[in-house]
Amino acid sequence: MKIAMIGTGYVGLVSGVCFSDFGHEVVCVDNNPAKIEMLERGEVPIYEPGLDSLMAKNVEAARLTFTRDLPTAIDGADAVFIAVGTPTRRGDGHADLTYVMAAAEEIAKAAKHYIVIVTKSTVPVGTNRKVREVVAAANPALDFDVASNPEFLREGAAIDDFMKPDRVVVGVETERAGKVMEEIYRPLYLREFPIVTTDLESAEMIKYAANAFLATKITFINEIAALCEKTGANVKEVSKGMGLDGRIGKTFLHAGPGYGGSCFPKDTKALARIGQDYASPVQIIEQVIKINEDVKRRMVDKLIDLCDGSFNGKTIAVLGVTFKPNTDDMRDAPSLTIVPAMVGGGAKVRVTDPQGRREGEHMLPGVEWCDDPYQAAVDADVLVLLTEWNEFRALDLGRIAELMRGKKMADLRNVYTVEDARAAGFTAYESVGRTGKA
Ligand code: NAD
Repeated sequence: MKIAMIGTGYVGLVSGVCFSDFGHEVVCVDNNPAKIEMLERGEVPIYEPGLDSLMAKNVEAARLTFTRDLPTAIDGADAVFIAVGTPTRRGDGHADLTYVMAAAEEIAKAAKHYIVIVTKSTVPVGTNRKVREVVAAANPALDFDVASNPEFLREGAAIDDFMKPDRVVVGVETERAGKVMEEIYRPLYLREFPIVTTDLESAEMIKYAANAFLATKITFINEIAALCEKTGANVKEVSKGMGLDGRIGKTFLHAGPGYGGSCFPKDTKALARIGQDYASPVQIIEQVIKINEDVKRRMVDKLIDLCDGSFNGKTIAVLGVTFKPNTDDMRDAPSLTIVPAMVGGGAKVRVTDPQGRREGEHMLPGVEWCDDPYQAAVDADVLVLLTEWNEFRALDLGRIAELMRGKKMADLRNVYTVEDARAAGFTAYESVGRTGKA
């Protein structure tokens, strides 16, 4: 199959590279010239484990190319995937479909033969039908179908998620489009990964419902964590005891500083907005959005308490700013609420992150960047573990405590225990949903 992929972000690039690894001929398109230049040089513009070597392998095999020129990319293509951003529209919480619709129009103007226009971006229910209208209006003679194919990969584990998905969801209206999609995903059919073929609206809704459910699960355990702190229960024990129930499952039950990232915040807002538009409010999600903001604020309060009531004049070492480990993505990360609160409160903030610096330098003004946790800890009053990178899971806490001026630690990912902290010489240890204090 010949495939064009519009957008070379986290989803488009991973999907394009993986499709080429399936054996398809893939052309990736982006209208950001800097990205295409990097890709043509063999450089990967994002941090995603394993992506560089898989990309190089498929470029070498001449199955994968990059261009800014959309008409060339779709010439002869069986399918064109739209994998552009759908951020929150300023002001109203809606998904901003400007990029999707612009891509659809460009495709319509350039296409000369039957093609399946597949929306991979996360889009509100009804968008694929709108894409069909836009394309039909821009090129009435074009023979085409639309398909919805939402993506479920997780940053940091994206290649594995794409190659070994829990399921692939495909929404189509015609048998012809269904056949093209089946051909594209044939390597996964052969390996018996479940493919859910459904209508356009259901496919679109599955993506929002799945993400909203996961955001709810995280928010649920964060609320239980707050209650654990009041009652003396330990949320890690509670998560374990709950998660072993097969009906509940243990993933997405880790208490922390609130969910963030490029998907959950915007997708929950968009789903709430869809509910309001259809006069069928998704009240649970409206609450989840509100509670998640409260969780982040509660973390700030916790840190102020640890700083004896004020950030002013304190030196704080922050370990991790990306929204989760194994990505350089900073979009809607809890650090974007927590770190500015410290800086704004008069703290000197020393930050380290294995991959977050390139993005973080623009998004977190007024902080000092350090190469590693030990450098960040020098003369700090408080150490804050904000993202649970592997690099921060086996720290020499004794060495860290010695380098610090104060001996206080806030472990917002519950990586360590009060005993670890006490043994290392910390005099105060705060975590999430556990009352133990050293
Ligand atoms: P991104 O912002 O990283 O990448 C989007 C890319 O599209 C950018 O490189 C941009 O330059 C390019 N682009 C925009 N308009 C274009 C056009 N007209 N022509 C060519 N290129 C264009 O976005 P992302 O994180 O990859 O997300 C893309 C979509 O996938 C979103 O709808 C998102 O919700 C969804 N999604 C993301 C993830 C994730 O983990 N990031 C997971 C599942 C689904």
